Amino acid sequence: MANALKKVPENQPGEFFVDSSCIDCDTCRQLAPSTFADAGEYSYVRSQPVGEDERRLALRALLACPTSSIGTTGKVSAREAMDDFPLPITEEVFYCGFNAEASFGANSYFIHHPEGNWLIDAPRFLPFLAKKFEAMGGLRYIFLTHRDDVADAGKYAERFGAERVIHRADADAAPGAEILLEGEAPCPFGNDFLVLPTPGHTRGHCVLLYRGRFLFTGDHLAYSRARGHLIAFRNANWYSWPETIRSMEKLQDYDFGWVLPGHGERLHLPASEMRAQLRRAIEWMKSR
Ligand code: SF4
Repeated sequence: MANALKKVPENQPGEFFVDSSCIDCDTCRQLAPSTFADAGEYSYVRSQPVGEDERRLALRALLACPTSSIGTTGKVSAREAMDDFPLPITEEVFYCGFNAEASFGANSYFIHHPEGNWLIDAPRFLPFLAKKFEAMGGLRYIFLTHRDDVADAGKYAERFGAERVIHRADADAAPGAEILLEGEAPCPFGNDFLVLPTPGHTRGHCVLLYRGRFLFTGDHLAYSRARGHLIAFRNANWYSWPETIRSMEKLQDYDFGWVLPGHGERLHLPASEMRAQLRRAIEWMKSR
């Protein structure tokens, strides 16, 4: 629970505040950008929400915050906003919310699919969220992009008898994972899912291409608000930057229109524009 005695000084006075336990994961700024902003190494309330719609977004951010660093003065119930999760992004693709501190607040996603649902990386384990997944048909696969964003995947796997999919090179982060991927060849699951190994951020990093349109990118590729283009994380590259560039170049073989990352912003563009964005990202990476 956020501590009002530890509010960061930049907060605008009012109902919502951020305290000094913030880990600067960006989740609140993505969910409620009119309320939360970046002070450099943490978030703060730049402007108190105006109207019910903005307030609802701020409540969602409060719930999604991995460190419970967002609080409210007085008695405010966030319960009404809990039911919003998982939040639809489009069609059968959802953002789970309830980001986990264990994954430094990475985003996780849910795909509702007639042949069995997928979780992409894992949120905190909450019985409430598990019940929501259950009502949507449970989980068949849990795809883990890489070692950092495993969070409570094991608990969800146990709850649903789901199979965790991770590359062998990162598998020590998910002991007992049921499906271990090898090498760098693309690995299809049925007609709609294609796992693409993308070593670089970590040795076993992989991304998931769904229906040729949605690319779940973990910590390989994301949109940067500050730079205005797609990026990779040069300062958080644990295995090899040249390998990250090589893996990025391989993505040019695919025509996707969505980038859905663990950290950083989502991006949705016509496939031709996404291709140009990807080219720009590769050029930018080579200059780093
Ligand atoms: S979601 Fe929480 S931890 Fe993440 S930036 Fe916002 S206040 Fe900080």
